[in-house]
Amino acid sequence: MSSSVPKPRCLQRPFVAPRLHMFGPGPSNVPTRILQAGAQPIIGHMHPEMFEIMDDIKSGIQYAFQTRNSMTFAVSGTGHTAMECALVNAVEPGESVLAAVNGIWGERATNVAERIGARVNTIAAPPGGTFILQEIEQALSRHRPMVFFVVHGESSTGVLQPLEGIGDLCRKYKCLLLVDSVASMGGTPLYMDKLGIDILYTGSQKVLNAPPGTAPISFSQRACQKALNRKTKPVSFSLDLTWLANYWGCDGAPARMYHHTGPVSAFYSLRESLAVLSEEGLENSWERHRTAAEYFHNGLESMGLKLYVKDKNARLPTVTTIVAPLGYDCYEIRSYLMKTHNLEISGGLGPSFGLVLRVGLMGCNSSKANVDMVLRALKDALEHCHRSKM
Ligand code: PMP
Repeated sequence: MSSSVPKPRCLQRPFVAPRLHMFGPGPSNVPTRILQAGAQPIIGHMHPEMFEIMDDIKSGIQYAFQTRNSMTFAVSGTGHTAMECALVNAVEPGESVLAAVNGIWGERATNVAERIGARVNTIAAPPGGTFILQEIEQALSRHRPMVFFVVHGESSTGVLQPLEGIGDLCRKYKCLLLVDSVASMGGTPLYMDKLGIDILYTGSQKVLNAPPGTAPISFSQRACQKALNRKTKPVSFSLDLTWLANYWGCDGAPARMYHHTGPVSAFYSLRESLAVLSEEGLENSWERHRTAAEYFHNGLESMGLKLYVKDKNARLPTVTTIVAPLGYDCYEIRSYLMKTHNLEISGGLGPSFGLVLRVGLMGCNSSKANVDMVLRALKDALEHCHRSKM
């Protein structure tokens, strides 16, 4: 029998990806070295060479997170998948979760926790603001959650949440501290063990400059104790920690069992991106992001633009939120930058929707030269885009 649905004509055209400056909140540009690592021949997901690569990834994540947790690996999926992996394993239906919400990622964690059947409470800070220890303690003492979720780098608002002291509070109230570092890890100091973080995750496509699709995650002893001694099975098979621990060789078992087919090429790229980060050194990477961000923020203010996060210390060095320039249409500015400068920046998201422009300079993109390029391009856009009379 012959096929009745015709061959798609679109697939007869060769595909060439455009070359862009990826200066939105992610994905970032992927350096040739990391792209080439991903283009190496496929090997089996259960081959000994693959297990060695996975072990290298594990060491790279331990360094990047500053943790000695043996339960450290990469989830096959994006930042959301890691968020789900954390919550689905740490929380059983009916248990209590407290989420700090000052942007979209706290909202997303709330959404995920509710799907698990958790009792979810939130504390809120206005978009652009952070949480202080006192209000966190009050909420912990009131709600007595099993897990407290907080975002280190709120990419929707451009806020950096200080984490010092939260781990101690969580220990005092016998709850696990879960931190989202998708937009911050590698770009600003973060010490998982020292801060007493119980579950930490990030994404591959931001500071790490790897393609989207893998998400480093780590669980402390306390988190493992909880996640591996549950009364109920986690609702997700793909994200079940018991299985993942074995697949990644984290459980000390003599043999690794097939769980799922890991994304082989994405693991190659992730390994290379972790190698790049460790070659540069975390401290150097943090300092590079800090100086580039400061230079950027000063440049924006000298152009007359306003930063959305008022408190200088609460500005994320990886993702900058600029108050939407008065009289302009943000969408037009973004389209102009893309059309004229091959440069991607993004608009607001969640609570910052319509209010800001977001510029991400992460990993290899975080440099003074790129800041100069963005400032020049923005100046050009403000000169050429339509401005309504006020
Ligand atoms: N958390 C934060 C802070 C993020 O910035 C993002 C991605 N923008 C995510 C979670 C979700 O990651 P992903 O899009 O890779 O699922």
